[in-house]
Amino acid sequence: MSYFINVILPIPLDKEFTYRINKTEASFIKTGMRVAVQFGKSKIYAALVTSIHQNPPLVYEAKEIEHILDEKSIVTKSQLQLWSWIASYYMCTLGEVMRAALPGAFLLESETIIQRNIDNVVDDVSLKDDEFLVYEALQHQSLLRIQEIMNIVSKKNVLPVIKRLLEKEIITVQEEIYEQYKPKVVRFVKLHPEFAIEEKLQTVLQDMKRAPKQRELLMHLFTLQAQNSKPIKVSDLLKTANSNASILKALIQKDILQEYYLQKDRIDNEGEAVENSKELNQYQLNSYHTLKEQFREKDVCLLHGVTSSGKTEVYTKFIEETLQEGKQILYLLPEIALTTQLITRLQNYFKDKLTVFHSKYSVNERVEAWYNVLNNKTKAQIIIGARSAIFLPFSNLGLIIVDEEHENTFKQYDPAPRYHARDTAIVLAKMFEAKVLLGSATPSLETYYNVKQKKYGFAELTRRFGGVLMPEINLVDIKTKYRKKEMTGHFSDTLLLQMQNTLKEGEQIILFQNRRGYSPVVECNTCGHSPQCPNCDVSLTFHHYKNQLRCHYCGYHIAMMQKCMACGSVDLNTKGFGTEQIEKELQELFPDHTIGRMDQDTTRGKHGYEKLINRFEEGEIDIMVGTQMLSKGLDFRNVSLVGVLNADNLLNFPDFRAHERSFHLMQQVAGRAGRTNKRGKVLIQTYNPFHQILQQVSVNDYLGMYKDQIEERHQYKYPPFYKIIKITGKHKDYNRVNEATNWFAKSLRNVFHDHVLGPEFPLISRIRNQYHKNIIVKIPRGQSLHKTKEAIRRIHTTFSTIKEFSGVRIIINVDPF
Ligand code: ADP
Ligand code: ZN
Ligand code: ZN
Repeated sequence: MSYFINVILPIPLDKEFTYRINKTEASFIKTGMRVAVQFGKSKIYAALVTSIHQNPPLVYEAKEIEHILDEKSIVTKSQLQLWSWIASYYMCTLGEVMRAALPGAFLLESETIIQRNIDNVVDDVSLKDDEFLVYEALQHQSLLRIQEIMNIVSKKNVLPVIKRLLEKEIITVQEEIYEQYKPKVVRFVKLHPEFAIEEKLQTVLQDMKRAPKQRELLMHLFTLQAQNSKPIKVSDLLKTANSNASILKALIQKDILQEYYLQKDRIDNEGEAVENSKELNQYQLNSYHTLKEQFREKDVCLLHGVTSSGKTEVYTKFIEETLQEGKQILYLLPEIALTTQLITRLQNYFKDKLTVFHSKYSVNERVEAWYNVLNNKTKAQIIIGARSAIFLPFSNLGLIIVDEEHENTFKQYDPAPRYHARDTAIVLAKMFEAKVLLGSATPSLETYYNVKQKKYGFAELTRRFGGVLMPEINLVDIKTKYRKKEMTGHFSDTLLLQMQNTLKEGEQIILFQNRRGYSPVVECNTCGHSPQCPNCDVSLTFHHYKNQLRCHYCGYHIAMMQKCMACGSVDLNTKGFGTEQIEKELQELFPDHTIGRMDQDTTRGKHGYEKLINRFEEGEIDIMVGTQMLSKGLDFRNVSLVGVLNADNLLNFPDFRAHERSFHLMQQVAGRAGRTNKRGKVLIQTYNPFHQILQQVSVNDYLGMYKDQIEERHQYKYPPFYKIIKITGKHKDYNRVNEATNWFAKSLRNVFHDHVLGPEFPLISRIRNQYHKNIIVKIPRGQSLHKTKEAIRRIHTTFSTIKEFSGVRIIINVDPF
């Protein structure tokens, strides 16, 4: 009797491959284990077993496997099922899904590069001979390819050695060195130990007669200490004592008080009671009960709650219940890095039951999280993660929460699999009969449409928590303001006045500008030339601070020119504006206030983003100007004014979603204003104050926006009424892309007739020296999705055989939005 296995290889080939195993191996191997196999002439891969059977392949002689790499399955049956769904729905290969799904350390292949783990002190006596050879080689060479290791240990079959070295944490797989997640530190204060003696303390208090404020603060510290024995946070002390930082500083300088820092998570682990989740108010309770009721019939529900209505607390109740049932919870967020505040909150509630899964964590951390979920460990009961967390090996999933479900970061654009994590989560949940709770202040049209169709359940929160009013939103017509000369730089007098008032009250301001850099375009006033990126069809953006011109698509940059490159004129003009220019104007307008800037350029460094947020939270920054990073779920208590500098460049984006997105974005940005008792103010500057979307934003009219937009989607045949598949051809030669996509579109038209649009060059048709041209296939309801994809695949296969088009990459994107 012969035995065979089918495996997935982490390469973009459309098939599983069959290998031969012997009887002993057959009794040991299970699906979801990795085996080392040879593929091609000399390449070795860690492949994943999908089935064990007795049918030899028909067209080739099955090779034997090299080695079994795992003792237990590392991938579950449900995962394999989900992978097939993704591959088939999003039209990619299982190998591509496998690459996206498994942590890098599981994906060994002969091209892999390893390096020594310098954090680990190795006792080399404990190493086996072959392990030692590799270890020693790494003393002389910082990096080794697996190919090279084959020579070092003089055998082909090296993956088992590598695997052992990885497990002993002697080596790591090379990857970009990501920053590791570091919990934030908190500042504490205590009495200097010297004054623990009663008499000494009395003397000090006597001496402080002339510094009543310091004395008061000190007395307050004693009161707090008497209340409970917890360490005292500086922020708590100052707040409850109604004191300020300079008084505290004086006490610290006199060595009466001592400051010290603790890591947030260490504080939590001190064994003090975990913070309890909050008691829901009447509106939250209503929503909660409605959702519970709806979940009896529906698998998916939407919680539509305005910003700051307390959605998170409602999710928390569902999380607690699911925990009680002993089931796992997946909490999906658009971005981990931008939601530290929320994560801290959930960590306080759930502490040791919660794992944050971050694709940017180190290899070891990701592998550890993987095993914790696989083994259903306590600390992996709740997983918080961005889109890639849907790939974890859940065994007992009970609930998936998709927070901010409208965010487009849930969609992966590149590389394949081009999946949407919200939609995939719904499929994943179904496999476990788990429930899905979607939440947003501005639901996507698709989701809201599904609610209207009664496919999804629904509950609403229309009030902010604690009776806080929704911000008052006003539009400022800057066309008129420019004409009447009531603008200073990019600021209308209305906005400036409001800013002055806000600062006078000691409150903070957020300003939103959707472009980074100083100004997008530099233009010569003499000949009209503006410098372009040599690799992409875009103008270079001027960055004042570095005095550079940069391309935001490929990173190309040159020093800012002194004179026009075309005609030599020195009369250069800058058009448009970005965050950097706003920051500069602010520094001149408000010289006595601290200005912060939050965009990709300022948050790149080590913890750049967290530091900025902390500084803003602590009140060190008065005005924060930033890009859409500012719109994501941040909760700053003291912000009472939000300004949008120019709404028009959002609205004018050529995309069928531009209006919906503008609405979401402006509502979300506005939602940062006035989260405490005072009603917040929002000012939106625009050239088109009568634009329908802006009108709807200004009165918070989600339903109005929904009705208009869904009507347009219907009329112009867009989702949710039609499905869309986008097919892109890419090549460095303009003509070849043209001809190839023409051929492709024509073949599609033979089948789908006028449901094919294009080919058309996108707005930016060349990026990194590659031309792009797009074809859109629209699929009406009732047309089989499966058959449509089959037809596209057939055309693609024929396409690949045509010589003239060789080298043209075809990218297929299902639901490309
Ligand atoms: P959303 O997620 O809808 O924007 P949050 O859940 O962040 O709203 O709630 C907004 C604020 O109100 C938070 O600071 C939160 O702590 C507070 N909050 C919400 N619900 C309650 C509650 N039931 N009791 C006390 N505070 C609450
Ligand atoms: Zn010129
Ligand atoms: Zn470029």
